[in-house]
Amino acid sequence: MNADVVIIGCGPAGIQAGIHSSRKKAKTVIIGKMRNSALYGARIENYFGIPGKTDGSLLLQEGINQAVSFGCIHLDLNVTQAAAEEGHFRVTTETGEEITCGSVVIATGISRMKLGIPGEKELLGKGVSYCTECDCNFFKGLRVAVIGSESQAAVSSELMTKYASEVYWIGENISAGRNLVDKAESMGVKIIAGTPKEIVGSTEVKRLLLNDGRSIDIDGVFIELGGRSSSDLAMDLGLMPEADNSVRVDGRCETSVKGVFACGDITGGPWQLARAVGEGAVAGLNAAERTSDA
Ligand SMILES: Cc1cc2nc3c(=O)[nH]c(=O)nc-3n(C[C@H](O)[C@H](O)[C@H](O)COP(=O)(O)OP(=O)(O)OC[C@H]3O[C@@H](n4cnc5c(N)ncnc54)[C@H](O)[C@@H]3O)c2cc1C
Repeated sequence: MNADVVIIGCGPAGIQAGIHSSRKKAKTVIIGKMRNSALYGARIENYFGIPGKTDGSLLLQEGINQAVSFGCIHLDLNVTQAAAEEGHFRVTTETGEEITCGSVVIATGISRMKLGIPGEKELLGKGVSYCTECDCNFFKGLRVAVIGSESQAAVSSELMTKYASEVYWIGENISAGRNLVDKAESMGVKIIAGTPKEIVGSTEVKRLLLNDGRSIDIDGVFIELGGRSSSDLAMDLGLMPEADNSVRVDGRCETSVKGVFACGDITGGPWQLARAVGEGAVAGLNAAERTSDA
């Protein structure tokens, strides 16, 4: 198949890029599995114009319907290879289908680092969260633990003091800067050196067990170990990702390789829906414009 624009990733960034690209009349293909988007299992209450708590899966479904209504083709597949060739790009799916195109948009998001302990997966969305900024409001007046050793965990702990009744910051070897640690402590965060072993609860989080046998009664756990983007495809396309695997873009969401754009969580934080959608619009417009100029 030939296309003007191929978008790799079917999360909010990729879908918005698809909407803007196809409305510019560029032949646009979105390749990716919506159910693997970070937004799929999220409940959103901080997105412009959407009041209350809305399921991210509903937003994604509406978004892809919109993109298709503007002429986008959606392939519910993973991309296994992407290559820059003379004057165009070639993208290959897991089923072996090859698509050549004038521009590529990388919108593959990040995967948040997991603890890998019992209860983490089972209680996700029932008190376990990977995003303090997103879910802080759901824990008003409750007791929470923030897990992680680096500055992200410090900032998250501090933020939670504005919502939760008690905040425990649990880290194995805390390596956040002294100023961040002091600030968290001065805000009432209880810092515990330890390693989580299990999150206990059936329908909601009840307590956290540590390796040394200690048990802490809590209502929520924020796992703030950071995230990593999948940079393999970016490297295939000739890009050198940053140390944290993010992909650097300019104000047009174009990378250092002409014709390769990137948007959403893969370009860095804050990892938020509004940012992903904003960058998606910019990337989609510029990717489509480039092919119409060619
Ligand atoms: C639990 C949770 C709660 C959240 N709550 C909020 C909130 O309340 N408010 C808020 O603003 N943000 C929230 N977020 C963050 C928000 O969901 C993300 O910022 C947003 O989804 C990022 O969009 P994205 O399109 O960049 O990446 P994603 O949504 O992660 O989408 C990435 C897409 O790329 C695809 N992909 C990856 N690799 C390939 C490949 N090789 N081939 C094809 N496709 C590929 C994936 O399948 C997926 O479709 C939350 C996130 C989580 C995890």
